[in-house]
Amino acid sequence: MKGSKTMAVTIYYEQDCKPEVIKGMKVAIIGYGSQGHAHALNLMDSGVDVRVGLREGSKSWPIAEEKGLKVTTMDQAAEEADLIMMLVPDELQPQVYEEHIKDHLKSGNTLAFAHGFNIHYGYIKAPEDVNVIMAAPKGPGHIVRRQYTEGSGVPDLACVAQDATGNAWDIALAYCWALGGARSGIIKATFAQETEEDLFGEQAVLCGGLVELVKAGFETLTEAGYPAELAYFECYHEMKMIVDLMYESGIHFMNYSISNTAEYGEYYAGPMVINEQSREAMKVILKRIQDGSFAQEFVDDCKNGHKKLLEEREKINNHPIETTGAQIRGMFSWLKKAED
Ligand code: NAD
Ligand code: MG
Ligand code: MG
Repeated sequence: MKGSKTMAVTIYYEQDCKPEVIKGMKVAIIGYGSQGHAHALNLMDSGVDVRVGLREGSKSWPIAEEKGLKVTTMDQAAEEADLIMMLVPDELQPQVYEEHIKDHLKSGNTLAFAHGFNIHYGYIKAPEDVNVIMAAPKGPGHIVRRQYTEGSGVPDLACVAQDATGNAWDIALAYCWALGGARSGIIKATFAQETEEDLFGEQAVLCGGLVELVKAGFETLTEAGYPAELAYFECYHEMKMIVDLMYESGIHFMNYSISNTAEYGEYYAGPMVINEQSREAMKVILKRIQDGSFAQEFVDDCKNGHKKLLEEREKINNHPIETTGAQIRGMFSWLKKAED
């Protein structure tokens, strides 16, 4: 169980995991959304005894059963299981935990998460005699499933917040193995590290930063009179090709593949767009994550009926980049819809 020591972290691969640890447990997956369907199906295909816990009347119930999964109520699933993985939305987890999970936790059980939000910020407090672990895929749920079926896997962060049984780490590692994470690497981290870096990444770079960058490029071109379709292909569609080159072979290979003109432009224009002000903003974003004020703002908006979230969602759904994109993607003969 040594793993490979790289710079600052230890990364674990298949030979470091003990699959028998998770194969010997009864696992409940609570929720069947983006992560829930991927965890349930990957674990089942890895030979783990899985049941999915859902609300009675949930529309996911027949869908999960059709895939060959055992489905029951959240209470029943939690009662039967040795390990309970919480995969309902973060903001609903405290209530679901209080109403359906807490009373079924037995000494030595394992409570598991795919993101550290509720444990790290103290919205869920688990009893001392249960393990609290995390298996957090570093990718969207549909990719966690797709890559597993293709024989690869999304890397995971594995973390232990409470070790009641003395083998919580083996359980976390084995769970990540069953998810397919050991095929590309399981990184040992803490709940604080996962929660803070995950929120920072999605806000500043992956989702917040990326969407604003693409939108700003699209708007600059269209406001200057260029056709929306051209702006879409340039600033949005081509993004994936550039990212694929970086993902597969590094920034140097992406730079090798693009023209010298493009590479020179990258060095000249990049720091004008992502400048000192952007870096200062990133520091503010990180600070608000670390001191819990982002978490509180999000929880308050949830209690307010998701007012801000829904307003912003409405705005982006009606943005010309979305309407242009939908038309263009509708013409692609090869594009398989993400929902399939
Ligand atoms: P989701 O919104 O896709 O799915 C939520 C599921 O929970 C629903 O499909 C439903 O089955 C169930 N649900 C919804 N409302 C419920 C209610 N009131 N009571 C009971 N069940 C209800 O959630 P998600 O994005 O898969 O997130 C689950 C967890 O995984 C979160 O902790 C999240 O931070 C983490 N995570 C998600 C991703 C991702 O790709 N979405 C990536 C890494 C970690
Ligand atoms: Mg993430
Ligand atoms: Mg996240």
